[in-house]
Amino acid sequence: MATTSVSKFIPIFLIILISILTPIAHSQSDDECKTETTNSCTDKARAVPLKIIAITSILVTSMIGVCLPLVTRSIPALHPDRNLFVIVKCFAAGIILATGFMHVLPDSFDMLRSNCLDDKPWHKFPFTGFVAMLSAIVTLMVDSMATSIYSKRCKAGVNPDNEGGTAIAGDQEMAVADGGHGHFHSHHHQVKGASESQLPRYRVVAMVLELGIVVHSVVIGLSLGASNNICTIKGLVAALCFHQMFEGMGLGGCILQAEYKFLKKAIMVFFFATTTPFGIALGMALSNLYKENSPRALIIVGLLNASSAGLLIYMALVDLLSADFMGPKLQASIKLQIKSYMAVVLGAGGMSVLAKWA
Ligand SMILES: [Zn+2]
Repeated sequence: MATTSVSKFIPIFLIILISILTPIAHSQSDDECKTETTNSCTDKARAVPLKIIAITSILVTSMIGVCLPLVTRSIPALHPDRNLFVIVKCFAAGIILATGFMHVLPDSFDMLRSNCLDDKPWHKFPFTGFVAMLSAIVTLMVDSMATSIYSKRCKAGVNPDNEGGTAIAGDQEMAVADGGHGHFHSHHHQVKGASESQLPRYRVVAMVLELGIVVHSVVIGLSLGASNNICTIKGLVAALCFHQMFEGMGLGGCILQAEYKFLKKAIMVFFFATTTPFGIALGMALSNLYKENSPRALIIVGLLNASSAGLLIYMALVDLLSADFMGPKLQASIKLQIKSYMAVVLGAGGMSVLAKWA
């Protein structure tokens, strides 16, 4: 399967990236810039139960968010060839776009421009923009190469029936769900013809996107887990629940169009839902070691954020929005385009509002 070769690709890239970046981080002085100020809000003992509540509630809400687009599969109005399906996808793409522009990129700018970092390299050169740009180029590279390898394999007949097999299995599931086999099957060939060349790309997109989102999800969990400020934690938990639910809807929309089998879908859902709780737990475990304002944390997290911002922005614009809006379905109808743009604005706007908190 080429998806496995893609998923092999990505960790290797990340390892290379991190191994390049860590020497820079080590060269910085280790002393902390500013420790957390101690005031009446700081209460470690009372923060722990709040964090446990956070872990469970965020787990549940992310699960709901990411599954929401997936269960819509059983609603007849949301078949892949219906208009509403395109609108849902555009809403999801808007969320991803805002995650990149409004959450991850500004975070990275804040971190790499922080006063806690040395003036010499960090304030003299816009590292965030540079890394985000490189990351967009690398994403394009992975995208195009993985897609060409995948399509070549499919053509060469290594597993020629895999696609069809999945699609048909999905169909039968659908047919059982709405009780009209003949009805759905008539669409099948037409849909398949149009999307057969697109499916490998959708799968690459879903995989890479999950990776880009996960970085932000772990980081926000980490900062919640490491904080002992009970005044801010309470508000943060509510914001993060919405945050993860929204982001889950964005990701769920992309997993939906990748048409994975149940197990793979379940793995992706599970992986996404556990990242923020994992980040919180990690933050709690490292709360003595991890300081948000230490130069090392700022540089590593800042650079990771920058690369994930480039990835998310590229994916949202090129693979999700442009692919849909320039595709035959939306090109055929201005009216549908206008509805879709409204969905994009709604998704991006909702996620932008959440940027106020996390
Ligand atoms: Zn965010």
